[in-house]
Amino acid sequence: MIAPDSQKPVFRFAPSPNGPLHLGHALSAMLNFDAASAAGGRFLLRMEDIDITRCTPEFEAAIYEDLAWLGLRWDMPVRRQSEHLDAYRAALDRLRERGLIYPAFLTRGEVRAYALAEEARGTPRPRDPDGAYLYPPTDRDRSETERARLLQSGAKHAWRLDMRRALESITGPLHWIEKGDGSTTTIAADPPAWGDVVLWRSDAPSSYHLSVVVDDALQGITEVIRGRDLFSATAVHRLLQALLDLPAPTYRHHRLILDRDGRKLSKSAGDTGLSALRANGLSPLDIRRLVGL
Ligand code: GLU
Repeated sequence: MIAPDSQKPVFRFAPSPNGPLHLGHALSAMLNFDAASAAGGRFLLRMEDIDITRCTPEFEAAIYEDLAWLGLRWDMPVRRQSEHLDAYRAALDRLRERGLIYPAFLTRGEVRAYALAEEARGTPRPRDPDGAYLYPPTDRDRSETERARLLQSGAKHAWRLDMRRALESITGPLHWIEKGDGSTTTIAADPPAWGDVVLWRSDAPSSYHLSVVVDDALQGITEVIRGRDLFSATAVHRLLQALLDLPAPTYRHHRLILDRDGRKLSKSAGDTGLSALRANGLSPLDIRRLVGL
């Protein structure tokens, strides 16, 4: 753990090395770096690489190259999530001891089939803020005997948060501090909108939600600046922070860079990739202008 220094704000950029960085990442990284420099704070880097099937050392090396080319410098060491699975497992165990998680055996197709069957009966199935059907109560309502039987049979499973119990076990409403351009607001968090979120995936260790809150705490992050696409997910992060007794950073969710069709950039969007733009002769200053800084 990095010793917290109460005087200095600590920022981070946390890309997943599963593709080349694009203009949206450049905006995020530069906003964090600029804010850290302006405040005399620290700028840390974290590789969110728990999905070992998609993350590669080559993408990681390219991230360092792109960020250095942009003129950014970060404090060492870089934290790699794949090297800290024990920390995420310990957090999961704490939640398990309190009866707040359960093994979830349904496949994506089964979740969808459940939703379609409900809707055919005239009961609309709620969707999460990203548009996915909420996980049905099937696994949450299983008996302990049935759970044990399924686990023993080696059935593939994830671990999900029992949202209902989790909300019962915290006191008071949840909120977070959102810092905008010159304004600070308090946002009421709405974790139930996400239903029983995955905390440990069936196909990769840990999950985005669990590892991001554990790491923000372990790295002493005081200010999270990230894209608007993660705004709603902050409700889940605040809930996990409350359940795990972790400090809450302040948040700023910045505008997204969109493509010509108004869609969020993706890692496969070749012509907005930083290395492609660099190869086309653009300078770091051009990148700053392109992202509106
Ligand atoms: N790893 C996430 C991404 O690449 C960002 C996570 C965060 O900033 O909280 O989109």
